[in-house]
Amino acid sequence: MPVRKTTAAVTVKIQQLLKKRPFIIAGPCSAESENQLLSTALKLAATGKVDVLRAGVWKPRTKPGMFEGAGSKALKWLQKVKSITGLPVMAEPANAKQVEECLSSGIDMLWLGARTTVNPFSVQEIADALQGTGIPVFIKNPLNPDIELWCGAVERIAKTGIKDIGLIHRGFSAYGDSEYRNPPMWHLAIEMRRRYPGLMMINDPSHICGNRSLLPSVMQQATDYGFDGLMIECHINPSKALTDAEQQITPKTLAGLLGTIKWRSKNTNAAGNMNVLDSLRRNIDILDEELLQIISQRMKIADRIGQWKKENNISILQTKRWQQSLERSVKRAEKLGLSREFIFRYWEALHLESINHQKKILDS
Ligand code: PEP
Ligand code: MN
Repeated sequence: MPVRKTTAAVTVKIQQLLKKRPFIIAGPCSAESENQLLSTALKLAATGKVDVLRAGVWKPRTKPGMFEGAGSKALKWLQKVKSITGLPVMAEPANAKQVEECLSSGIDMLWLGARTTVNPFSVQEIADALQGTGIPVFIKNPLNPDIELWCGAVERIAKTGIKDIGLIHRGFSAYGDSEYRNPPMWHLAIEMRRRYPGLMMINDPSHICGNRSLLPSVMQQATDYGFDGLMIECHINPSKALTDAEQQITPKTLAGLLGTIKWRSKNTNAAGNMNVLDSLRRNIDILDEELLQIISQRMKIADRIGQWKKENNISILQTKRWQQSLERSVKRAEKLGLSREFIFRYWEALHLESINHQKKILDS
């Protein structure tokens, strides 16, 4: 595989752009025709709010016979659109050959799709093809909620020497009914932020929502959580789109939505009075310490219960008692302004820890 280098000029311009916040990527799910791509891109460029144009060139489809993207010829359309609008362009390669084609067509940035991140063979093949190129790569979360696969993809791409790696949170596949096409499971994106604080985190509300009506709330939520930007699917005529028609919006709608979002600053130093935040955070630290002490006391009592059960030869799990405690807690918690979802997860964790303590006593 020949080693290619992106030119220094592109790198400097693109690297400047990568620092911009919010960082907005927009464009059609698929490049369908030169006309569709160009007319969408011109309108997006005219909003003055879009930093990068995206378009799917090869589309991974669930079943054969569906529109699988225009393929390699769309790379020429992207080149043309780039020179007319001045917008950098971004595409999704899914194998080494597609990486090569993107690189030789002047594509400025790449993204790895959710169906690629899920497969370490594919990610490694792409990483090998990217060796020595330095092109910025954005990595979507895997289809399934397995954060280690997401990390694995980051590590494989980082090993190529690429410095500009971004993450794209597009939600996770779920079986059964949900209001989302791919439920966001925000905590996983937040955990990725914790693990890789230096990587840009982009939210893709289009694939999370799967429809237009939920977009505004997900976009707002992403900025409330301090995401660095958004990737949004836009089409000149969304209802006629050949892929993902229900979730695409017009460039005009995008401009309107971006205008209504309340952008939050991640930098606490940018805010006025830090004393308020400092003192609130000190309170939180004190309460966190107290919570730990209380949980530890609770476990010491669990140990004594374990001792009693051992002496009397009684099983650890007392389902009825657990059910009663859970119900009581949920009722109390709701009155205290805590969500049911949280309290169930809290109870599960607490109960499991308690059982582990008792099990150790019984085994001793
Ligand atoms: C896309 O961005 O068009 C796409 C295929 O998305 P995902 O990989 O998130 O399904
Ligand atoms: Mn799509």
